[in-house]
Amino acid sequence: MEPILVRQCRFALDPVEGVLRDVDIYLEGGQITCLGECSGKSGTIIDADHMVCMPALYNTHTHAAMALFRGFHDDAILEEWLQRVWRAEKRLTPGVIHEASRLAIMEMLSSGTAGFVDMYFYPEETAKAAEELGIRALVGPVMLENMTSIDKWAEETVRLAKGLEKLKLVKPIVNVHSLYAAPIEAVEKGLEIAGEIGVRLQMHAAETRREVYAVKQRYGKFPVEALRDAGLLSQRVHLVHMGWATSWEYQAVAKAGATIAHCPVSNMKLATAGFLPLHDLQEKGVTVGLGTDGAASNNVLDMFREMKAAVLLQRHSYWDTRVKALHVLRAATLGGAEIMGVRAGRLKPGYEADLVLLDASRLHLQPLRPDNLVSALVYAATGGDVVYTIVAGRAAYSPEKAEKFTEEAARIAERLNGFFEGEV
Ligand SMILES: [Zn+2]
Repeated sequence: MEPILVRQCRFALDPVEGVLRDVDIYLEGGQITCLGECSGKSGTIIDADHMVCMPALYNTHTHAAMALFRGFHDDAILEEWLQRVWRAEKRLTPGVIHEASRLAIMEMLSSGTAGFVDMYFYPEETAKAAEELGIRALVGPVMLENMTSIDKWAEETVRLAKGLEKLKLVKPIVNVHSLYAAPIEAVEKGLEIAGEIGVRLQMHAAETRREVYAVKQRYGKFPVEALRDAGLLSQRVHLVHMGWATSWEYQAVAKAGATIAHCPVSNMKLATAGFLPLHDLQEKGVTVGLGTDGAASNNVLDMFREMKAAVLLQRHSYWDTRVKALHVLRAATLGGAEIMGVRAGRLKPGYEADLVLLDASRLHLQPLRPDNLVSALVYAATGGDVVYTIVAGRAAYSPEKAEKFTEEAARIAERLNGFFEGEV
């Protein structure tokens, strides 16, 4: 892999140390090896005098292949929407998952995302698509009690993890859908496997009031409380949503070192409401990442838009400005990198070369200065401003690839539309 020299970047943002101007960035062997004056270095040159460079974003919860369901009965109430999606999901095939995953991954790369945490059917197909396109991913089969048994799912998880061993960018994760769609014994078994292979266990938790009631009925406890009391809350657990948890459950999450994926757009669009106390959680030292959830409930996988929505939802819910642009930028970069298990999220030598270059000359970003750069990236930029997404030192998205992605997306869209014939 040829090194990359990003030359004379107009602004370079590190989420901890701040903004630098007119710097070179040298990427070699998949890492950032020079930042500042890097003359005399050879490799592929990117002239960046009209660009902003920042660490890439990580989508800490999605169902990538649900790109298939973008715009599918969008405005139905949650229960009806779920019934329709579940009916259609029975007809999914590995081929459809592979195509839909490629579509989702191209969208993620073109909007500055270098990695995602997935939960969906036929994960080996999503893994294949991720490796082909050069994006980081965590994948694993989903434990759903009406579709599989704990033993069968556990066996599939271990088998998939073995199959992924030789891949560089795609790693396993243990996926239990939720405590309302899987028994608590699945979490117990899942954590055993997660410990053996050294990965996290992802599950939806405290997403809706209905879920909280269902879990309370089944176990006599709230979801996170039930996990804690069963000794199943640890730093290996990655909880998704968490808008309907109690204060003592958030305490338990902080104490255990579990991580959280906050999905503000999905929560608002599915009208599930709830409040994630983002500021309190970050103050307590909890690692929070942002997630788009699937394209069926968002409808885009654009993490720039997700950052803005995250701040807006906090302000709308709490009537104050405690959550700043920088807090969500750190969640989307540093927080995401930690959840994905990658030493990234910083623009600093020694860190993985996962970077985004945006076009700093776009009209909606003017006037741009070091003091308003973070605000511009969170409140004004969208994924459409991304020019390059570099993953592990390789340009996985670039102006040359943009054209190829557009052509392939059109071909895939035609085939995916065929899936719905007679359905809608
Ligand atoms: Zn989800």
